[in-house]
Formats: sequence, structure tokens, C-alpha cells
Amino acid sequence: MRFFGGTDQGLLRPTNQDAYYIDSQKGWAVVADGMGGHNGGETASGMAVEIIRKSMEDNLKAGSAIEEANKRIYEKSLESPSLSGMGTTVVLCTVSDDKNAVVSHVGDSRAYIFSNGELKQITTDHSIVQQLIESGTITKEQAKHHPQRNLITRAVGTERDVKIDFNEVELENGDVILICSDGLSSYVDEREIAGIINDGVNEKTVEKLIDAANNSGGKDNVTVVLIEA
Ligand code: CA
Repeated sequence: MRFFGGTDQGLLRPTNQDAYYIDSQKGWAVVADGMGGHNGGETASGMAVEIIRKSMEDNLKAGSAIEEANKRIYEKSLESPSLSGMGTTVVLCTVSDDKNAVVSHVGDSRAYIFSNGELKQITTDHSIVQQLIESGTITKEQAKHHPQRNLITRAVGTERDVKIDFNEVELENGDVILICSDGLSSYVDEREIAGIINDGVNEKTVEKLIDAANNSGGKDNVTVVLIEA
């Protein structure tokens, strides 16, 4: 397995509220996209990554790592009015035996699999626009410009309990898992993402994906992790 990752503030945001961590030894990676006023966003995503890192070091259990992060961020948010309501998305991918990937997620950061030249989304966003797509109210194309496209329906740290989705995928040799914040998926077309990954995955690929987001306006922080089987 090869792991690559990077994050960028983008061109317009004053801070980077995204965070990520890769443990290539144990075979897992996490991306978090924080939200909340003052410094709530970066506090939530930073705490999530740090708590998940420690918890995964102890027992490699994704579900309990995310639950622990949820509990501690929620408690922290109650301590200080400036952190009130803070939360974060989390996508945590663990790979075992070089082929079994489990993706655990909350929020609208995403995991995709690139296999045989095709990019497929593994996760389903926990967002208002996703609900509107599922109910047939709007199309996927309309979702991109919808005024409520940034509103998520689940987050880590905003409530006492968190509901986590788990997805399993089996990897063939050469398959690539992409984990990203919406700074990539909302601004760069999936065909363009697929084209960049199709050119071959190396240290430069993360940079190329981040550049693509910034070339389309750089309106949001952008974080990318690539895992190649
Ligand atoms: Ca974002």
C-alpha cells in the first residue's frame, strides 16, 4: 500500500479548517473538515484527528475512535461559548491485508474508489442536498449550486451521540482510494479527478488535485488522501 496526502487553505479562506492524518504502517488514514465560528472549525477537526490517532494506536477500531472523538469534541464545545456548536466531518479508511478497505464516515467529506479507469463514490453525503437528490427534488447537477449545499445533517461533535456509516470495499491490485473534503469534490468535476488519478499515483498527484481545486476558484480549504493498493 502506498499513501499520499496533502491539505491546502485554498485562495479565499483566512484559515484551514481541514485536517488529516495518515498511518501507513498500520494502514489507515483520516480526513476531517471542521465547522464553527471563531476557531471552532479548526479546533474540532484538529481534535478529531488527534483523538482518532490516539484511539487507533490503542486498538485500531474505527467506530470507537470516532465515537471517542465525538464525545470529547462535544464536551469541549460545552466548555466555552466561542466553541459552541463546533463539529467536523470525518472519513476514516482502514485497509487490512492490502485489500479489505473499510470506510467509516460522518458528514459530507467523501471517499471514492478508482478502479479500472472509473471513479465511484463509496460514501453517501450526510447533507441537505443529498436528501433533496434522494427525494427527487433536485438533480445532482443542481445540488452543486444549491444555496444549502454546505449544510450537513450529521457531524462529529455537535451532539452527544453520533451515527456513523460503514462501507466495505475489496481492493484489486492498482485500485486507488481517494478521501477528500468538499473543497475538492464540490469544485472539481469527477471526470477531471478521474483523469488526474488515471495518469498514475505518486507524490505529485495530491498536488495536482489541490491545484485543480484552486484553479476552479479555491473557495474552500481542500484536503486529499490517496491510498493505492
Ligand atoms: Ca469544506
